[in-house]
Amino acid sequence: MKLEDILVGVKKMGIAGHVRPDGDCMGSCMGLYNYITENYSHIEAHVYMEEVPNFEYIHNVDKIESVVKDKDFDLFVAIDVSDSNRIGVAKNEFFATANNVNIDHHVSNNNFGKINHVLPGVSSACEVLYDMLDDTKISLNTATALYTGIVHDTGVFKYNATTPHTMSVAGNLMEKGVDFPSIIDEGFYEKSYIQNQILGRALLESILILDKRCIFSKISQEEMKFYGVTSKDMGGIVEQLRLTSGVECAVFIYESAPMTYKASLRSKKYVDVNEVASYFGGGGHVRAAGCEMEGTAHDVINNISRRIEQQLMENEQNV
Ligand code: 5GP
Ligand code: MN
Repeated sequence: MKLEDILVGVKKMGIAGHVRPDGDCMGSCMGLYNYITENYSHIEAHVYMEEVPNFEYIHNVDKIESVVKDKDFDLFVAIDVSDSNRIGVAKNEFFATANNVNIDHHVSNNNFGKINHVLPGVSSACEVLYDMLDDTKISLNTATALYTGIVHDTGVFKYNATTPHTMSVAGNLMEKGVDFPSIIDEGFYEKSYIQNQILGRALLESILILDKRCIFSKISQEEMKFYGVTSKDMGGIVEQLRLTSGVECAVFIYESAPMTYKASLRSKKYVDVNEVASYFGGGGHVRAAGCEMEGTAHDVINNISRRIEQQLMENEQNV
């Protein structure tokens, strides 16, 4: 599907990212927003996210709206959103718009749009979006946003959803002159002092479970307050846990509200973490998924580890 196909007759459109926006959400929403405003000046575009993550170098981040004041859209696009409950602030307006489109790459996507362009297995929503665009109309600003999303969702081109096509898309974006060393450093690796502190704390307190096949760590609301961090600062912790040698699976949970935990799951080869997260009402990808669970940290890890253990038994036996 090409973007042009869904823009016919459109004068006012909305773009919605997901709750707790990450690099791919930011990159795909802003890539789309910049592409529209640069090439279709007759379309009034609005972009919505519940909060603005730290990507100041992406053009037009100051245009992101976290409250939906407009209405009467003739097109609404949700991008990188795995399920309709994760649309966040723009959910009502998305469904109030008859012409709504779901563009995504999550295997757990439940095709909630009127039109669904969902390609599971593709590295990132940014790669899905790039293939819908006319390369000759992509500016440096749009390319910078798209490159950011690909870098994020591939973990800098290393997760197994990275394909030769992903690399050629990144190459085409490089041709536009993207400042890739800065995007990778500032947009991916760089952390603030308090982000490093909370990462250190999570690593220090981590424990090996399931015969050392799984690593687990947790952060409580009290600890978040102590270090002055919010959910925006928790990115990257589970990736570092996953890099522990010998583990197949990493689980990181933090208390997003009293007795409510946001869980992030990662695996290397065998465990289908999407299956685990979906069982608890979340979703994501085979090697990276998440969910939200209620109870004590103890309950949460007990429930998650039981599902992981089952998977380890089933999947590792077949190797
Ligand atoms: P993260 O652990 O970085 O928050 O998320 C990993 C992947 O799982 C991302 O692709 C994200 O969109 C997805 N994901 C995280 N939390 C949830 C959730 O609660 N529900 C669903 N459906 N997907 C989630
Ligand atoms: Mn994504």
